[in-house]
Parts: sequence; structure tokens; C-alpha cells
Amino acid sequence: MVDTYKHKGMRQKLVNSIREKGIKDERVLSAINNIPRHLFLDSSFLEFAYDDKPFPIGSGQTISQPYTVAFQSELLEIEKGLKVLEIGTGSGYQACVLEEMGAKVFSVERQKKLFIKTKAFLKKIGYQSKIFYGDGNKGLPTFAPFDRILITAAAPQIADDLLDQLKVGGIMVVPFGDGNVQSMIKITKGKNGELKKEDFGHFSFVPLLKNKAND
Ligand code: SAH
Repeated sequence: MVDTYKHKGMRQKLVNSIREKGIKDERVLSAINNIPRHLFLDSSFLEFAYDDKPFPIGSGQTISQPYTVAFQSELLEIEKGLKVLEIGTGSGYQACVLEEMGAKVFSVERQKKLFIKTKAFLKKIGYQSKIFYGDGNKGLPTFAPFDRILITAAAPQIADDLLDQLKVGGIMVVPFGDGNVQSMIKITKGKNGELKKEDFGHFSFVPLLKNKAND
């Protein structure tokens, strides 16, 4: 569980490459610079932890590409103290990026094994994000409403439950669509509950699974 100068150097290079690809929010870049991504990968992938690529994390899931994490985080316009709901905890890396930016993170994962592993891991490395087991499509009514909602899996439709749990003035970011490629959609909820949708181009995510959580 060490973070060496070598890792820090590799991370700085990763941050530079993400900046070159167009990410401007310095708070996003500094969060990525602060988080030891190599700890989130199985040891066999250590060498590749700072490539700008997605990686398998077990249970058939992936840790998103750092550029994609940065892109979604930038669209969310995170400010200190905002309450953020993430659907698809996965490795927990994205949750940590939001937490580093000052958000209060609530994250839902439907794969029990991943949920157990990631919850324990985040605690171990000192992050406070609250991790829940269940179907993210239902959101977390007990903790709603949220300032921001982030979906980190491909959503063929956007659950009404999630839209209901978004505050007025809130932002939801979701890779929308089925198939191999989705459109990154930013939804802003207006004063009267009206939804403004903007399309930020194509990305590729693993699918958001429907129905009950599985073990
Ligand atoms: N944000 C993650 C990457 C997410 S990959 C990270 O930073 O590593 C997508 C994740 O969504 C997977 O872990 C998958 O198990 C989870 N997922 C899929 N359908 C879901 C659902 N209905 N509710 C909650 N999580 C779901």
C-alpha cells in the first residue's frame, strides 16, 4: 500500500495528458493527482495503473478510464459540500475523485462482492464516501435530494426515481444509450422541474443492470 515518487511522477504525467485532452477544471486535475490509482487495481496491473485506460476490476467490471472520470467530474461542476449520488461504485476510484473535490459522496453498487471489497478498501485508505449495496436505479430515497447525480454505467433509460431525487438546480450526468457506444448527457433541473439536456459526445461504458441486486 505504498505511494512512491515513481507513482507520483507517473500520476503527474497522466494529469498532463488528461489536461492536453481538454479537461480544464483544476480541481478535477488536482484530485486525480492526489489519488494513488495503482492501489485500486489488482497488483498484476500495477505497471499500467497510470495509463489513460480502463481496467478490469473483477466481477466482469472495469475501473473507468481516467479521462472519462475527469470528463464526468468536470461536467458535474462539483463544489465543496455538495451531496452527490453515484450509481456504480465499482473500484471506488470515481467516488474518491469527487470526495477529494469536497463532495459528500453516496455511492450504490449492485454486485455484492465488489460492494464488500470496495467499502472495506475505501475505509482502509481513509476515504469517507458512503457505499451502499442495491439497485442504483432506485437511488437512495432516505438520503435524497441530491445536488448531483452521476451514473457510471451505460443507461438505456433514466429512471424517474433518480430524476425525482435530483434537487432543483441540480445536475445529473449519464452515459445514455444501449449498445457499445453511449452519449454523455448532462441534465439540469430547472426551477419548475423542467429538464434541460445537453449532449457531450460519445463514450463507452459497461451496461447499467436492471432489476434486483445480485450476489
Ligand atoms: N465508477 C466506477 C466504475 C464503474 S463500472 C469506478 O470508479 O471504478 C460500472 C459499475 O456499475 C459496475 O461496478 C457495476 O457492477 C455497477 N452497476 C451496474 N448496474 C448497476 C445498478 N443497477 N446499480 C448499481 N450499480 C450498478
